[in-house]
Amino acid sequence: MAKKARELSAKGVKVINLSLGEPDFPTPTHIIEAAKKALDEGYTKYTPVAGFLDLRQAISEKFKNDNGLNYNANQIVISTGAKHSIMNVILSLINPGDEVIVPAPFWVSYSEMIKLASGVPVFVKSNVENNYKSSAADFEAAITPKTKMFLFSSPCNPSGSVYTRDELKAIADMFGKYPNIYIVSDEIYEHINFVSSHHSIGQFESVADRVITVNGVAKAFSMTGWRIGYIGAPEFIAKACEKLQGQFTSGTNSIAQRATLAALTGPMEPTKMMADAFLKRRDLVIERIKSIPGVVCNIPEGAFYVFPDFSYFIGKTLKGRTIQSTRDLCYYLLEEAHVSTVSGEAFGNPECIRISYSVNETDLNYAFDRLKEALVVD
Ligand code: PMP
Repeated sequence: MAKKARELSAKGVKVINLSLGEPDFPTPTHIIEAAKKALDEGYTKYTPVAGFLDLRQAISEKFKNDNGLNYNANQIVISTGAKHSIMNVILSLINPGDEVIVPAPFWVSYSEMIKLASGVPVFVKSNVENNYKSSAADFEAAITPKTKMFLFSSPCNPSGSVYTRDELKAIADMFGKYPNIYIVSDEIYEHINFVSSHHSIGQFESVADRVITVNGVAKAFSMTGWRIGYIGAPEFIAKACEKLQGQFTSGTNSIAQRATLAALTGPMEPTKMMADAFLKRRDLVIERIKSIPGVVCNIPEGAFYVFPDFSYFIGKTLKGRTIQSTRDLCYYLLEEAHVSTVSGEAFGNPECIRISYSVNETDLNYAFDRLKEALVVD
């Protein structure tokens, strides 16, 4: 898809990219200033493997104040992006054949990371009718003696679904009965939540001592390229991640860590401004999608994606072309409408397409004009 999009762009065709997984806003100025200052202050050497102590303390405070989580600085490991944080945790805990329960749809890397550790992903699928959320009972039905971990994101990439406090509590209470299962809670979209305040599953007593909370600065502060993620974890897991990281990458980038300290201790207005802009765009996208016959969409409550069901178009003919799958449909939409999207196949829901609204409203409107024109059955 990316290659095809580049070819079209090279020919002078205006391609709107709705496949992106990163905010389109610049990193806030005070964070950039902190990075410049770090260079001037000589933060140019190797860093402690788990991260600078003052940053780990700031993260410990953030977990306490924002999320009601108790992780001290020794339980925190800073890594090269949340992706790296999750990989560390999986490599630390998963032995060959261990099963990891993953709600589907899921972020593509989860399944691949589990397989890298020779673990077995066990998917519990939800769909548009239930707002892409499964219940505690659904997850319990997937537990076997081999289950080692439950790995999920809320708000979710790709569905944008957000588990409520009550839903999380029910899931925590259920896992409370299975003391050998660890919970990895990926909260990277914490601040892009349109419904309520964010809730962390680690706040619940029943599981608090075996929750690994993952977060980072990529989405909240538009810092995707800075590559900083972090975990709060039971101390023995934090130590294992530190050991692994000590051999793979060492402590992460010094300047990006200083910038992250400014992000986590500085003003939140730029983050709120971005979240407000995403909400406006979400509403626009929902409005536009509703006007396309055949597309079934729920109202996502967070992140910056919609994940509509496009199964109506499978087997139908559009402009003389018979659509075999959503992957096929994505190619068609790129070639015909010049809009780039991502098929739900890699996210575990092949009937869906992920549409990111991390582009401005003018481009969104332009893209949906074209999508509507292209999505007419012959
Ligand atoms: N978790 C989820 C759910 C994500 O969508 C992403 C980024 N697409 C990440 C983790 C990775 O974040 P980072 O850029 O900090 O590695």
